Amino acid sequence: MSKTPTLSDRLSKARSGSAPDVTERARRGVMAYVGAQTDVGRATRDLADGTAATGVGRVALSGLSPQGLACADGCAFCCILSGSDGGTITEAEAVALHTALAPLAGQPDGRAWHPKACPSLDPETRSCRAYDARPMICRAYVSTDAEACKAVSEGRAASGPGTLGPYHTYLAAIGLSRAALKGVKRVATYALSKVAAGAVQGASLEDTLAAARHAPSELEAELKRSKRDLSRA
Ligand code: SF4
Ligand code: SF4
Repeated sequence: MSKTPTLSDRLSKARSGSAPDVTERARRGVMAYVGAQTDVGRATRDLADGTAATGVGRVALSGLSPQGLACADGCAFCCILSGSDGGTITEAEAVALHTALAPLAGQPDGRAWHPKACPSLDPETRSCRAYDARPMICRAYVSTDAEACKAVSEGRAASGPGTLGPYHTYLAAIGLSRAALKGVKRVATYALSKVAAGAVQGASLEDTLAAARHAPSELEAELKRSKRDLSRA
């Protein structure tokens, strides 16, 4: 009788869709995360909802100290989102964002400042109202020049803003989690702006997640964009 593959077996063979070096960094992180869990059910849930991927990304982010950043509270050009998606987030991040914003339902949101702003934003102070729950995509986006961020938000090219490496590692970790849990558990991603909009409109968590859930191809597309961005860096 063949042995049932463990989570570690599955992760060791999984492909992420990201660049090889990023994939291996993510694999080491996710396998260390899973290896530290004594409960297989918990480890499986953490892989499925992106808790493990977010943990890997945050650990990597905590090891960085970029210099010369212009980022400051109330500076929010990066919270003006292009398109209707706003960026890829995990289920755990979507739940945390909804939980943080739900008590603010009905209050004016970021769109009262700018029509394309993230609904999590406070339109007066331009601070994130879900700061502690903001997802990796927000934590990893930084800039040395706020004017350049303003230009980018207006659709003009500018240098200064960029996404730090740990975001790419996090994305690869989601890709690995999905591949490792194929046929076992769904690993979904969500649209940041749709989760925030659902929460501030008073929609339930269940309805918000259903409306904001990505098609599986969206993670693949985001991983391709990540690979392309890394090859240009
Ligand atoms: S990324 Fe740009 S817009 Fe966002 S806080 Fe930093 S400088 Fe300001
Ligand atoms: S969640 Fe917060 S930090 Fe992220 S885009 Fe929205 S307002 Fe900005």
